[in-house]
Amino acid sequence: MLALWPDTRVILDRITNRDQLTFAQYAHRTTQRLVDDRFIAIGDAWHSASPQLGQGANMALLDAWSLSRGLEEGRTLAEGLRLATSWRRDHVGLYQWVTALFTPLYQSDKAWHAALRDHLLAPVSGIWPAAQIQAQLMSGLFGFPLAPLGLNLPDYEALLASSSSASSSTMSAIASSLSHS
Ligand SMILES: Cc1cc2nc3c(=O)[nH]c(=O)nc-3n(C[C@H](O)[C@H](O)[C@H](O)COP(=O)(O)OP(=O)(O)OC[C@H]3O[C@@H](n4cnc5c(N)ncnc54)[C@H](O)[C@@H]3O)c2cc1C
Repeated sequence: MLALWPDTRVILDRITNRDQLTFAQYAHRTTQRLVDDRFIAIGDAWHSASPQLGQGANMALLDAWSLSRGLEEGRTLAEGLRLATSWRRDHVGLYQWVTALFTPLYQSDKAWHAALRDHLLAPVSGIWPAAQIQAQLMSGLFGFPLAPLGLNLPDYEALLASSSSASSSTMSAIASSLSHS
């Protein structure tokens, strides 16, 4: 890990024995009880998945936004909850399906799954239209989730302009908070 990403030393140096680590386990689950009287499931409580697309936090935030908008726009609580889930259902279903499709390539112990990923998927992912599709998938934008929520695409130019200074300052902030805990 240190060889690949030396900046993580501030975190790794604090790990001295195995008891400090938790073994990560992943599961695909989609709740059957999504909405009920005065009840809604959002985020992982609605849809958990294995992490290769890195979308769990993003999806949870979109669900929360949808809930807030549904509560604003619904004439009753029940209608607000129904609107919130209806705006998110297609996107959640799509990502649950795509993630399940990719899971064997990233999580399986079988050598041919890894070979398929490294020797077919990796080179193909640099070629049009696979590169564009992959970028959409990894940014959470596959399936056009923003329009139903009344949201616009991020301002990528502004994000890019601020990202180079942000990455080094983020690492300093983590180091500083660890040394004070
Ligand atoms: C190892 C690992 C790596 C991951 N990597 C990524 C990544 O790179 N990118 C990404 O987007 N996602 C990643 N995820 C997924 C992401 O962390 C989750 O999808 C996201 O945190 C879901 O948010 P949530 O608010 O729905 O649930 P959570 O973040 O799990 O929040 C639920 C909260 O409810 C609290 N809670 C539980 N029960 C009760 C109760 N009875 N009363 C009160 N509080 C309660 C919990 O303590 C917790 O704080 C990863 C997950 C794991 C495990």
